[in-house]
Amino acid sequence: MKTVLVTGASRGIGASIAVAFAQQGYAVVINYNNSKEKAENLAKIILDSYKVPALAVKCDVSDYSQVQEMFNTVNDSFGGVDVLVNNAGISSQKLFTDLSPQDWKDTMSTNLDSMFYCCKSALPYMISKKSGVIINISSMWGQVGASCEVHYSTAKAGVIGLTKALAKEVASSGIRVNCIAPGVIMTDMMSSFDEQTVNELKEETPLQKLGTPKNIADAAVFLASSKAEFITGQILGVNGGFII
Ligand code: NAP
Repeated sequence: MKTVLVTGASRGIGASIAVAFAQQGYAVVINYNNSKEKAENLAKIILDSYKVPALAVKCDVSDYSQVQEMFNTVNDSFGGVDVLVNNAGISSQKLFTDLSPQDWKDTMSTNLDSMFYCCKSALPYMISKKSGVIINISSMWGQVGASCEVHYSTAKAGVIGLTKALAKEVASSGIRVNCIAPGVIMTDMMSSFDEQTVNELKEETPLQKLGTPKNIADAAVFLASSKAEFITGQILGVNGGFII
């Protein structure tokens, strides 16, 4: 049985990705930071509904020592991680001139440093097996930039650079590295936007609707599958046509 580790899987897109992989018969590691109850409930639902092992593991992915500890736990329980989905992220909206060095640091460490730490920890097992899949969740704002989200857009552009470079480096070890760049997806992350802004974003989306976490989960399952065996180093926009 293959194992998937999804970072930030207690809620939103990550939780949907965890369920989608469970449906495919994967053992699932649900990483969380603050939402312990949600993560543990999800593990229980996955275990009961899909009869696959599911483990909730607390780890602040912006902290390298915690990431190392999480991978030690997971390697002890499951042998290693076959599919790593780097999904955990935070966002905030501020004028560039109001951003503090701490805002900048927090955004970079949670959205980008975390991916370095998790890839670094997952790769030795994948290299030894000469197979593995890494999927990094960026954002369409990492592709085109968002006003009042320079810190977030920069981190998410970094995710795209990391994906392309790492894909080239590990391809000869049979490991594929791809990226999903979501458009507007209705999760807690969107809760700071008022109804009017959300409606405007919907109208700006050519398909005239907002995305669901499942839209991203379906793309992740595809990228991990043998149907994507010749796809690496790519940025898959799942955005209703917002960015073309
Ligand atoms: P969300 O609903 O706010 O959920 C964020 C998840 O990340 C939670 O499970 C949270 O865990 C986890 N997390 C945050 N900081 C963490 C840390 N330091 N260590 C471990 N886990 C941490 O967000 P979402 O909308 O599902 O977003 C998921 C990903 O998609 C993010 O990378 C986001 O940037 C990206 N994205 C989202 C959208 C969108 O429209 N929603 C669009 C483009 C890209 P706890 O609650 O346990 O702390």
